[in-house]
Amino acid sequence: MGHQAPCRKCGSARLRVVGQSSTPPGVIVKCDACGHWSLVVGGAPAAPDVDTRRVERLVHLVVSDKGLACQVQGVARVREGWQVTVLAGPERGLVRFDVKADSLGTMRASIERGLAHIAP
Ligand SMILES: [Zn+2]
Repeated sequence: MGHQAPCRKCGSARLRVVGQSSTPPGVIVKCDACGHWSLVVGGAPAAPDVDTRRVERLVHLVVSDKGLACQVQGVARVREGWQVTVLAGPERGLVRFDVKADSLGTMRASIERGLAHIAP
């Protein structure tokens, strides 16, 4: 990934990601030339924000209310809302659908629509 900043100590571009940090979110990079290591904040995906966690809870709620045999894999922010990924068993595999940012009731309705293809 050629756009990493060079080593702050010796200026070498030979940097390797050696670990991840969750607080603050970032990656730990080590310089192959001088051994200096540093934290690059923002190099790793940030923790989900409050709204994303709320949507995720809503998806879990719909799944358990309807008794669907699927596993929620993740909820990711997209431009107009969220993309929900669920694992709907060995035959259907991964199912993805988008939920637009709206009131909780409307978002719940679109989650129900998205999950409607998965028969219980
Ligand atoms: Zn260095």
